[in-house]
Amino acid sequence: MARKDAIKKLRVTLQKRRAALIRAAIGDLDLLQRRQQKTGDVLDAVAETVQAELNSQLLEVESRELKAIDDAIDRIDQECYGDCEGCGKMIPLTRLRAVPYATECIACHRLTEKRKSHPAASMNRVFPSYQADRV
Ligand SMILES: [Zn+2]
Repeated sequence: MARKDAIKKLRVTLQKRRAALIRAAIGDLDLLQRRQQKTGDVLDAVAETVQAELNSQLLEVESRELKAIDDAIDRIDQECYGDCEGCGKMIPLTRLRAVPYATECIACHRLTEKRKSHPAASMNRVFPSYQADRV
């Protein structure tokens, strides 16, 4: 029962995070479009290109996290949320609270990380509160 209630709360957390991400992504996109419309000298153009590149990378990270959040909400609705995709065991609540869209327990996550260079690394730099290795 405690786990079910905790997951209910996590769903609310995920939805709030989702809304914040969408707002941020819309802001980034707007900034990106405005910068692309402006014209200036060569140095301005270079600075703007670098900034635009950073914004588009940020946008990419945000959309990746958004997808992970959507998937997590789907898993909650289908009542398979919190099951580790690696070993099938329940992911501890402490980990889910730290990384609400985690799909693996920490042991399996570390194994996966070792096997491939992981996109979550860049996410941790942008969103330090979502450090995958914290729990
Ligand atoms: Zn596992």
